[in-house]
Amino acid sequence: KLADIGVYGLATMGANLARNAAGKGFTVAVANRNHERTDELIAEHGGEGSFVPARSIPDFVAAIARPRPILIMVKAGAPVDAVIEELLPHLDAGDIIIDGGNSLFTDTARRNAYLKGKGLRFVGMGVSGGEEGALIGPSMMPGGEVEAYERVAPMFTRMAAQVDGEPCCTHIGPDGAGHYVKMVHNGIEYADMQLIAEAYDLLKTLHGLEAPAIGEIFAEWNKGELDSYLIEITAEVLKKIDAATGRPLVDLITDEAEQKGTGLWTSKSALDLGVPLTAITEAVFARVLSSRRGQRIEAEGLLTHARPPVTPATPEAIEAIRAGLYASKIVAYAQGFQQLQVASEEYGWKLKLGDLATIWRGGCIIRARFLNRIREAYGDGAEVSSLLFEPYFREAVLAAEPKWRKLVGEAIAAGVPTPAFSSALAYYDGLRRARGPANLLQGLRDYFGAHTYGRLDRPGKYHTRWAQDGSEVKA
Ligand code: NDP
Repeated sequence: KLADIGVYGLATMGANLARNAAGKGFTVAVANRNHERTDELIAEHGGEGSFVPARSIPDFVAAIARPRPILIMVKAGAPVDAVIEELLPHLDAGDIIIDGGNSLFTDTARRNAYLKGKGLRFVGMGVSGGEEGALIGPSMMPGGEVEAYERVAPMFTRMAAQVDGEPCCTHIGPDGAGHYVKMVHNGIEYADMQLIAEAYDLLKTLHGLEAPAIGEIFAEWNKGELDSYLIEITAEVLKKIDAATGRPLVDLITDEAEQKGTGLWTSKSALDLGVPLTAITEAVFARVLSSRRGQRIEAEGLLTHARPPVTPATPEAIEAIRAGLYASKIVAYAQGFQQLQVASEEYGWKLKLGDLATIWRGGCIIRARFLNRIREAYGDGAEVSSLLFEPYFREAVLAAEPKWRKLVGEAIAAGVPTPAFSSALAYYDGLRRARGPANLLQGLRDYFGAHTYGRLDRPGKYHTRWAQDGSEVKA
């Protein structure tokens, strides 16, 4: 029997997506540059379903039913182009290449145009859920021509996670839209994780709690409005005891965060589009600062400061941290969704933001109960200026605000850095001020560069001859 789909690239994600498809009854042709991975997959999991292992690209392509859907799951960047070039001579018009890696959306747009010119179809698809999600049901974000997606939709909607009977997979938009949305998903994941790390730091450093006790607090929080995969696994990571030393494992893990680039891309895109994406960008910078461990160790010796005494972890103190975490999280999502909205307009993608909240409810790393609220806010294509203006979120941040503000003040006084909590609050404060201090910026810009300014009391643009006769002229 010819295969329903081919999967090229059998590292963690490719192997598990292939097993996922085979487990759902599809016949899957599998291949990898290094054949050992193919052999290993068949030896260990060949019995789980119908696999057709191939040792060469021609054999791999020939094993798939036309029009052939071929899912590429290799390292993002040049390897994707290399695999496409290897496949090309063996493909027929109408075959569909799907790139399921974390490709940069501009690369996806380029590949889309390139393959279209060759009579082929292309789907750039973001996949979230990590190793386990890929196997049991990820969140899938396919972009490209709808007709190309429709060929694979029956398979992908079955492979994806299901929530309340709905698959966590839907067509996102044309060309690079799927990968863009996955990129912002990852950016939001950066912000979520940074906020969690700051909450942990506050419980540890302000209140002197040990990791397992903090794990219990996170487990408790997971029963309420913070209910999410990341809060759930935070509790598990904090409670894990190292077998060799008997100490909490997290206390032995080096405090240097690594990154693969999707958070950075999200922030760069926000700067390009002029979206104030402070929470995600602070999360990227926090990882970068953490990675400079040598410099931090040197600074701790040089820039000494006396730590204020630890204060008791009263229920009120713990609740303030929970409330600050939730409010900051809402700000991070409001910013991320605003970026999606602006990108959608800029690139003409017509993203349905409610659908994104829907397919992020299951399978992916940021899955959370509160995505239901975002889905409700966007309803059937409702125009939302900011999630912070929607009744549920507005009430949530207004209720959290006094505790959040007091907490950030205490953290600053104690010298515990909370870049994501603090910048989310600064954004919130900046947003809700009809008049900010940028009037002075405009005055300065006009002074040194004659950049002109507008006036509140009359229309038009003006320039003052600041250093000459001081007179104002209409620009
Ligand atoms: P890796 O990103 O570690 O990539 C390894 C795979 O790429 C191997 O199959 C390797 O082949 C292949 N490869 C690398 N260079 C080439 C090349 N020039 N030609 C052919 N094949 C090449 O694998 P993952 O499974 O972790 O991820 C796959 C994609 O999915 C990536 O884009 C990743 O960012 C994305 N992703 C990963 C997630 C995760 O949790 N790991 C989650 C979501 C997305 P070989 O065995 O021969 O070296």
